[in-house]
Amino acid sequence: LRHQLLHTKRLEAVEQMGAAISHEIRNPLTAAIGFVQLLQMENISKENRVQYLSIIKKELKSAERVIQDYLTFSQPEIRLSETLFVHEELQQAIQLLQPTANRNSVQIVTIFLNDIIIKGDRQKFHQCLVNIMKNAIEAMPSGGVLTVELESNPTNVSILFSDTGAGMTSEQLEHLGEPYYSTKGTRGTGLGMMVVYSIVRAMNGTIHVESEVGVGTTFKFTFISLPTTLDKKEIIEETEKSFVMI
Ligand code: ADP
Ligand code: MG
Repeated sequence: LRHQLLHTKRLEAVEQMGAAISHEIRNPLTAAIGFVQLLQMENISKENRVQYLSIIKKELKSAERVIQDYLTFSQPEIRLSETLFVHEELQQAIQLLQPTANRNSVQIVTIFLNDIIIKGDRQKFHQCLVNIMKNAIEAMPSGGVLTVELESNPTNVSILFSDTGAGMTSEQLEHLGEPYYSTKGTRGTGLGMMVVYSIVRAMNGTIHVESEVGVGTTFKFTFISLPTTLDKKEIIEETEKSFVMI
């Protein structure tokens, strides 16, 4: 009986992972399709065309990597050894979501005083940023402001995402991060936050949420900081390989 229970549990986990995979593949493909649509417009500048093509290439590669990472191994691995310049990662994710923000009349404001460096998995961290900011934009269907702020002290760094959107009830907050929990009907998967929580947890980070219905929501990610005084190259060389399972 015990054996059977274990087996059922494992099957559930596999099913859950399968759904998460398709979500992680759909995001980059949707982004690529969006930029292909932009490319189809007449009179776009050469500069924009080059930029859109490079984004499309990056997103398709990302989808390909997700497939490789998740389907060739039974357990997804997360790298903890990559050095992430949070400033750059945020700018890339914001650039990717800018067309979605524009469609919803959402203004994205960034308050980056200095750069922040953390250790983690670049691709998975990018996924977190996209999932969290996409939710924020979707919470403001008739416009609003998404503020992204970096905070740091000698030991910790925080990334804050504040939206002026719909907010969440305490019941919604309780279910946040549960697989398949979505208030978006067929337009939602309810997997975005599950992915965010598991990746941030794997990177030894914490997530703090504050929300008020009709006012908005703030997500605060906190990680252990790396010294920013080191030379970029030095930091990259310093990293050793370490993996954990998520
Ligand atoms: P999906 O976006 O597909 O619904 P997610 O896992 O990304 O699934 O989010 C789960 C739910 O959490 C959403 O359906 C929504 O109810 C709530 N949520 C997440 N982020 C926000 C936000 N910034 N403002 C309001 N609600 C949010
Ligand atoms: Mg979502």
